Amino acid sequence: LTDLNVLADEFLKLSYHGLRAKNKGFNADLVTNFDDNLPKADVVQQDIGRVLLNLFNNAFYAVNQKQKIAGSDYRPEVSVTTESGNGHVVIKVKDNGIGIPDAIKEKIMQPFFTTKPTGEGTGLGLSLTYDMVVKGHGGSIEVSSEEGLGSEFIIKLPILT
Ligand code: ADP
Ligand code: MG
Repeated sequence: LTDLNVLADEFLKLSYHGLRAKNKGFNADLVTNFDDNLPKADVVQQDIGRVLLNLFNNAFYAVNQKQKIAGSDYRPEVSVTTESGNGHVVIKVKDNGIGIPDAIKEKIMQPFFTTKPTGEGTGLGLSLTYDMVVKGHGGSIEVSSEEGLGSEFIIKLPILT
C-alpha cells in the first residue's frame, strides 16, 4: 500500500530540483494541500510515481515557459492537492503556466504528441499516464486548462475497501 502524500511530496521536490538544475535562477512556489487522512492506495508505486513525475515535470516546464514571456510580477506556482472521495483518492496537480490551447487539448494524451523541442519532450508522458491510471489501475484523468493562465490535471485512483 502506498502513501500518495509521501510519493507526491518526494516527486514534487525531485521534479523542481531537476528543473532548477537546468535553469539557473528559476524559482517557483510549491504549494501542497495534503489530506492527512488520505487512505493508503493499492497501486503499483513505480507506475504512479512515473505518472506524478511527468505531471510535475510538465507543470514546471509550463511555468518556466510562461516566466520567459510574463512580466516581473509573475510568480510561478505549482500545487498538489490530495483528497479522499467515495471509494477513490484524488490527486490534483495545478500550475499557473502557459496553459493548453483548445486546438491541441484533444491530442495531448496521444503517444508522441509533444509541443516541446527535440530532446525536451518525447510526447509519451501523458499517454503513459493514461495507460497506467485508466487501464492499469481503473482510475480516471480530467484536464482543465486555459491558454495563457494554467492547467490542472485531476487523477482519481480507486481504493479497495
Ligand atoms: P512531453 O512532456 O514529452 O511533451 P506529455 O505527454 O507529457 O509529453 O505532454 C504532451 C503535451 O501536452 C506537451 O508537449 C504540452 O504541449 C502539453 N502539456 C502537458 N502538460 C501541460 C501543462 N501542465 N501545461 C501546458 N501544456 C501541457
Ligand atoms: Mg511530459
